[in-house]
Amino acid sequence: MKKMKLPERRRRRSDLFESLPDEIVILILCKLCATASSPSDFVTVLLTCKRLNKLGVNPLVLFNAGTEMLAVRAKNWCDEAHRFLKSCVNAGNREAYYILGMIRFYCLQNRGSGASLMAKAGIKSHAPALYSLALIQFNGSGGMKNDKDLRAGVALCARAAFLGHVDALRELGHCLLDGYGVPKNVEEGRCLLLQANARELAYILRACKTTPFEFQSHQPRPNLTYSDEHEPPCASNSVLRLLNDYRSNEADPKPHPANRFLVEWLGLRGGMDPGLRMCSADGCGRPETRNNEFRRCSGCGKVNYCSRGCQARDWRVHHKGKCAPMEDWNHAIDDLEEVVDDRTVKNDDDGIHV
Ligand SMILES: [Zn+2]
Ligand SMILES: [Zn+2]
Repeated sequence: MKKMKLPERRRRRSDLFESLPDEIVILILCKLCATASSPSDFVTVLLTCKRLNKLGVNPLVLFNAGTEMLAVRAKNWCDEAHRFLKSCVNAGNREAYYILGMIRFYCLQNRGSGASLMAKAGIKSHAPALYSLALIQFNGSGGMKNDKDLRAGVALCARAAFLGHVDALRELGHCLLDGYGVPKNVEEGRCLLLQANARELAYILRACKTTPFEFQSHQPRPNLTYSDEHEPPCASNSVLRLLNDYRSNEADPKPHPANRFLVEWLGLRGGMDPGLRMCSADGCGRPETRNNEFRRCSGCGKVNYCSRGCQARDWRVHHKGKCAPMEDWNHAIDDLEEVVDDRTVKNDDDGIHV
């Protein structure tokens, strides 16, 4: 008798699922898509049964796919992954427009299609896409030096900054300070830089509110995002440092999946083509599209940046303590050689050779 009851119960459960209208299942899948922490989360659901497999690729579901669900890894890049992103693009997902646009522009060398996809995301008020397009204009990426359009870059940057993009705010602040692509306005530039720092502060304080016990020295560094659309997952005692001088020493935003893809892609390829360099800022991953496209640190000449925003952030977080002018290195080498010579002479006198 027991053997007869179990299959019956299972059948009833299965019938309950089958009796759910497609609209309800699609609604649940939309929610899942928006909150999935990786593409594999969703693939696992699709593999559960034929019905979920079919409804999972419904345009409404793909339209709602969140940033992390679209975070395809470079090491997993294949035709299927490309097709998946294209399906999300066809469904009108603006995050997919941006991610596939960045991949095509910087990794697949398909500049026209990549820029066009980013522009479509920008039209849908996607702040990182507007910021990336601004950098392409500032650097003349994909073209020659003469293709730079500073005014267009400033306009795109201003739009991204208006949407709350911290790096765009910082970039725009530096443009105003230097009169780069826009009439010089030091006061307004400083005001924007202050706003960028204040936003970073707000992210950290908001994170502390949700995780008060992480206010200790052994806790990990803050993990910030680029815009208001995402919540930071953790925070640390860097708030105290941020409050000091109203500047953050550890404002290390969590890179967007598109930037993570670029970093991983170039790492898998074993580096850049000869003569080309990658932005030295952590987590940016933007590569040069022609020789000497990026600005170089005027102090040491050893690091390169795609933007003023990346340079300012990297300076505060990493490079400030490492930057040493080339002359200093030359002096240090000369001093060292003198010391070695002195020791050699002294040891020669003692009959000992170094
Ligand atoms: Zn950069
Ligand atoms: Zn330097």
